Amino acid sequence: MITMARNTDVSVVPRDHLPTARQIAAVRAVMQLFVEEDLETGVSPRQQMHCVRCARLRPLPGFLVYDGLRLCNACATDFELARICGSAHTAAEFLLLAVPPP
Ligand SMILES: [Zn+2]
Repeated sequence: MITMARNTDVSVVPRDHLPTARQIAAVRAVMQLFVEEDLETGVSPRQQMHCVRCARLRPLPGFLVYDGLRLCNACATDFELARICGSAHTAAEFLLLAVPPP
């Protein structure tokens, strides 16, 4: 599990900017690296943790911590895309957005 830097600079991304397909693919690829790194360092995919966004138990590999908020990899990926879009700048803001159905 990785703790993300608090002040990642996304100020160069225009607000309400829609990410391109390549940006989405790049974000997903990077976020998948967190899963792979956790698995490589011995984090069991059978271990689970509660995600504060989707409120479900999710596999521990790939969880990320933003300002103390633990997001599963899928929700962390959504957060990174939301930051690119400008719809959320912090994890706390992101938690106020609607959660997509499972
Ligand atoms: Zn989640």
